[in-house]
This record gives sequence, structure tokens and C-alpha cells, in this order.
Amino acid sequence: MPENVVKEIVARGFCVGCGVCAALCPRENLAITLNDFGEYQSVDSGRCLDDCDLCLAVCPRYYKNANQYEIAKKQFGEINDIQVDDNAGYFIGCFSGHVKDRRLRNQAASGGLCTAFLEGLLASGEVDGVICVRPSADTARLFEFFVATTGAQLFQAAGSVYYPVEMSEVLRKILKRKEARYAVVGLPCFLTAITLAQKKSPKLNRIIKYKIGLVCGSLPNRKFYENILNGLGLPVGSISNIKFRDTNVYANRLRGMRFTDLQGKEYLTFNAHEGKTRRSARFIYTACLLCSDIFAETADAVLMDAWLPEHRQDQFGTSLMLVRNNELMEYGTGNGRTWTAEMEETTIEKIINSQKPRIQNKRFRLLARLQLCKKWGVPYPENIHVAGKKCPDKKDVEKESLKFAGHLRSHGVLVRNKWSLLLVRVLLGNIFKDMKADIKDVVRKYYFGYKYSKTETPPQLKHD
Ligand SMILES: Cc1cc2nc3c(=O)[nH]c(=O)nc-3n(C[C@H](O)[C@H](O)[C@H](O)COP(=O)(O)OP(=O)(O)OC[C@H]3O[C@@H](n4cnc5c(N)ncnc54)[C@H](O)[C@@H]3O)c2cc1C
Ligand code: SF4
Ligand code: SF4
Ligand code: SF4
Repeated sequence: MPENVVKEIVARGFCVGCGVCAALCPRENLAITLNDFGEYQSVDSGRCLDDCDLCLAVCPRYYKNANQYEIAKKQFGEINDIQVDDNAGYFIGCFSGHVKDRRLRNQAASGGLCTAFLEGLLASGEVDGVICVRPSADTARLFEFFVATTGAQLFQAAGSVYYPVEMSEVLRKILKRKEARYAVVGLPCFLTAITLAQKKSPKLNRIIKYKIGLVCGSLPNRKFYENILNGLGLPVGSISNIKFRDTNVYANRLRGMRFTDLQGKEYLTFNAHEGKTRRSARFIYTACLLCSDIFAETADAVLMDAWLPEHRQDQFGTSLMLVRNNELMEYGTGNGRTWTAEMEETTIEKIINSQKPRIQNKRFRLLARLQLCKKWGVPYPENIHVAGKKCPDKKDVEKESLKFAGHLRSHGVLVRNKWSLLLVRVLLGNIFKDMKADIKDVVRKYYFGYKYSKTETPPQLKHD
């Protein structure tokens, strides 16, 4: 049987369900479906062509493919006066601001700059459509990628969707249609997959004119929401919509979520429900724990929340934007849009400061997770870009091990080694005799006693 993404990527836990491989497959052999954790994954229907490796060539997690940093270097490295930052990648301009229109600002995730910027591209005729995400009438999936062609449709799509979505259908549609020019909004890994796909599909290369990224901390799976619904006493499948960051209800707009059930009744989350769920490692994709792209390094521009002391208490929201493409600079500085924005230039230091915890997690703690992968024999994408300046020491690695092991166990990747369990029991027995010992440290130390549960041989790990 020929090798494809299901065997090479999904089986190793690297798939984030973007859907790009499925859209490109010449046999329509791949479909994107939900697994037991409520995570979109690519599945195979057994109709693979013998000499084909297209799906692997477009997957950002395939070890033979260039990573986001290498792709970005080729894409942007030669631009005059472009600068590069270890964490944020390439940039020619940094902006901070929000739309003046209060309705849009309320509807948007941060300051609404992304929607205003996209509308500017549409209104000026730079693109014919914008591929972005909106609530879906199909309650089985809740959200979907679609092509927006008007400002009103962009308004409906404003706001972030922290929920599994996939783009195979929308990509198949635009690849079958008469040629037009599109901008696409996406999380970093989705846009890297599209960039790789553009190299393989001349049509996709012609029609995708701009890629607009969203900074990404991680993507929650559906179990995350099922857990919150349980807390609200609602059965799974009883929801027709989720509004993330509901400004109208909460003073702290960054926390509140509004669930609407099939009868139209609304339920609001409490911080306690959400906070407890958030702290658990079970509720994100494994791929996100093995990912180093924060600032959508292959995108022409990237937007994020202004997580800065001066904006933190602002309940209406401010966006930060980093631009890498000269053609986009005029939109970055405020021309040609229906929704005007109050904007100013900002510095790369502010941009980096706004994402400090993300950098800590996806750069520094990632190094600790990679060490643990090696220790436990768990595979990780060998093309991963690791740019950490500071290396984690033994204590950092031990600290990270509890959460990471918890995640991997919940996903069936690791199983407890019975001998180490026995050792922990013996040691705990001793601890109760000698109360001076620090229980936490001892448990942490022996938490290393795991083994990889998959039957296949893990790939050779290159990083030392
Ligand atoms: C899963 C996820 C994790 C994020 N993590 C961080 C983070 O750690 N730090 C941070 O500063 N910002 C993060 N963001 C980005 C942030 O939430 C805002 O999207 C960003 O600040 C832009 O806000 P805005 O008001 O300018 O955008 P808006 O004007 O609200 O426009 C957002 C646009 O993005 C589209 N969109 C929404 N969700 C998705 C999606 N899942 N995939 C593709 N397109 C989508 C919408 O359709 C809309 O067109 C994350 C976003 C997502 C979806
Ligand atoms: S291209 Fe996307 S959907 Fe396909 S295997 Fe890779 S991550 Fe998964
Ligand atoms: S190897 Fe080719 S035919 Fe097989 S799933 Fe991948 S793209 Fe499709
Ligand atoms: S953390 Fe990485 S893998 Fe996960 S959704 Fe974000 S960009 Fe993709």
C-alpha cells in the first residue's frame, strides 16, 4: 500500500485536520472527519494511486518538507529593508489599532482590524473573495470555511473561532471554479499547508493572492467544549452556536462564551468552568504541543490580540498587526476600506511582548517537550523549527513532563510502565514514613516511567 498522510502523519499524532491534503488528492481518497477526541483528522478510503505522494508534499508536518521558517526565508528573505525576529519571523511594518465602528469592534475578536483589512482588499478589487470562517447552519459542525464576497458577509464572519474547522471543501470548490483571486485567513499551520500546496498546484498558486494569519497559541478540540457543556448541564449535540468572547455580556470580554441551544435558549459560561477546563492538557490537539509557529511565519500579514498592559483592561479590544508584504502596506496604513480604523505604528518589541506566554510555551517549553519525546520514544515532526536561545534544564523538563504526559496518556500515545508504577508505590510508601520528603518532586521524577504505546516503530529522531 502506498504511503500517504494517514500512515505518516495521522498515525503519529501530527495531524491538525487542516484539510489541504484532502482537497489536493487527485483520487478524492482522503476525507476529514472527527476522531474520538473531537479533532479533525485525515482518513483514507483505500483508493490511493500507486506513484503518488501529493498529500505528503503539502503537509507541513511531513519530515521531508521545509518548515515555516525555511519557507518564509525563501518567500520574504530578499525583500528590501525587511527585518527578521527570532520569534516573529519576517516583517516590514508593525501596527496597533481598532476599527472606529463600535458594532464591528464588538463583533470582532480583538479590535476588528482583520475584518477591516480584508474588506479593504475586497472593496479595492485586490481580491474577488475572502476565504474565512463563519457560523454554520449545520449544527453537526457549528463553523465552516466559506468565501465572503461582500462586507456584510465579512461582518458576519468577524470574531475568532477557537473550535475545530477544516478547509477541504472550500478549497475543492475554488479549485473547480473559474479562476478568481482570493485572500485566505487562517491559523499558521493551515497557511503553511496552503503555501506548500501552492508549489504543487499552479492553479492554487495563481488564485490565492494573499494569506492573512492569526497568531496561534493552540487549537482546542471538541472535548474541551463538551466538558464545559457538562458543567452547564447541557447534553452534547444540543448546541446550535457558540459566540466566543461575548462583549455584550461580560465586562471581561476575553473570557465569556455564549452557547445557544437548538431551541434558541442562551447559556453563558462562568470563568470557573472554563478556567478549570483550560488548565487540562487533554483538550488540545497533540499537533499543537509539537508546533513552533506562533506568528504565521509564511503569511503576508498576521493579526493578534494586544495582550499589553496598556490594553488589557480595554473591554472593546485592540488588534496588533505585523505586515510582511509591500503590496499590503497601504491597507495596513488605512487606505481603501469601508470601516476606518484608528491605527498607529508600533514596534516589534511590543508585538513580542504581547505574546510572551505563547513564546514561552511554543519555543522554550517546546524544547522540553522534544526532550521528553526522545526520552519516551514518542515521535515528533522532524522538520520542526526550533529556535530557542535558552535551553531548558532538568527541572524545566521535569516540570513540563506532568502536563505533557497527561496529554499523551489521554490521547493513548503513552501508557504507564507497570514497573515504574510499582516503584512509585514503594517510594510513596517510604514518603509516608519519612514526611520530610517532597512528594511532588518524587512523583515528578518517576513520572518518566512511560513507554510509547503505538505498535509501529517510531521514526529516528534527529534533534539532540
Ligand atoms: C484558535 C485561535 C488561537 C488564537 N490564539 C491567539 C493567541 O494566542 N494570541 C493572540 O494574540 N491571538 C490569538 N488568536 C488571534 C485572535 O483571536 C484574533 O483572531 C486576532 O487578534 C484578530 O482579531 P481581529 O479583531 O483583528 O479579527 P476579526 O476582525 O475578528 O477577524 C477575524 C477573522 O478571522 C477569521 N477566523 C476566525 N477564526 C478562524 C479560524 N479558526 N481559522 C481561520 N479563520 C478564522 C474570521 O472569519 C474573520 O474573518 C487566535 C485565534 C484563533 C482562531
Ligand atoms: S495536510 Fe493538514 S489535514 Fe492533511 S495530514 Fe497534514 S495536517 Fe493533517
Ligand atoms: S498518496 Fe496521492 S492518491 Fe494517495 S491519498 Fe495521497 S494524494 Fe491521494
Ligand atoms: S498551535 Fe500550531 S498546530 Fe496547533 S493550530 Fe496553532 S499553528 Fe496549528
